[in-house]
Amino acid sequence: RFISLEGGEGTGKSTQAKALARSLESKGITVHLTREPGGTPGAEIIRDLLLTGHEDKWNMRTEALLFAAARAEHCQSLVVPALERGEWIVSDRFIDSSRAYQSVSGLLNDADIMALHKVGSGGLMPDRTFILDLPEEVAARRAEARDRGDSDRIGGRDSDYHHSVMAKFREYAKDEPDRVKLIDAAQSPEDVTTDIMHILNDLIG
Ligand code: C5P
Repeated sequence: RFISLEGGEGTGKSTQAKALARSLESKGITVHLTREPGGTPGAEIIRDLLLTGHEDKWNMRTEALLFAAARAEHCQSLVVPALERGEWIVSDRFIDSSRAYQSVSGLLNDADIMALHKVGSGGLMPDRTFILDLPEEVAARRAEARDRGDSDRIGGRDSDYHHSVMAKFREYAKDEPDRVKLIDAAQSPEDVTTDIMHILNDLIG
């Protein structure tokens, strides 16, 4: 099974991805904890091009293609083979981040981004996607406290940008209620994990 976690920066995605992987492992499931962009050696190199020191060099179309290239690498080298072996993937971000972030500029629309995803990764979709939903102001304060001195970010984004991204994530939950679930990320990390595990019960069997 393929699970993705999504949400803005500072919503606790990485912490939850780890906790979720541990909870699934405790049920005897083989889990690969991974992230996007990145997750495999080649895709991590593309991540560096996108997020560490080079992030101001790309125009929006190039950036979208690099995110799609990182995903192609990630899917072919890790995600697809693991799913074929019957193992689980927990990915910190996947296609819905591309849809939310790469469309915000208005240069690319959802169909363009899905087309890139189709070419790069065969259109693979997660079985369940959890959006960690937190008021943007709270998320911004958390991200700021965490990121002092951390350059792993795309710079120059303002609060309007983050509002638009969160609005898009919430839209996906409305459009695809079976796959995409909104989770209240203002709860304690333990309660967030419990909510997610509860929803995954039907897949765990
Ligand atoms: O929070 P995380 O470390 O996962 O995100 C890394 C950065 O990449 C963030 O600035 C996020 O907004 C950005 N990103 C993006 N498009 C994607 C995936 C991540 O702009 N498809």
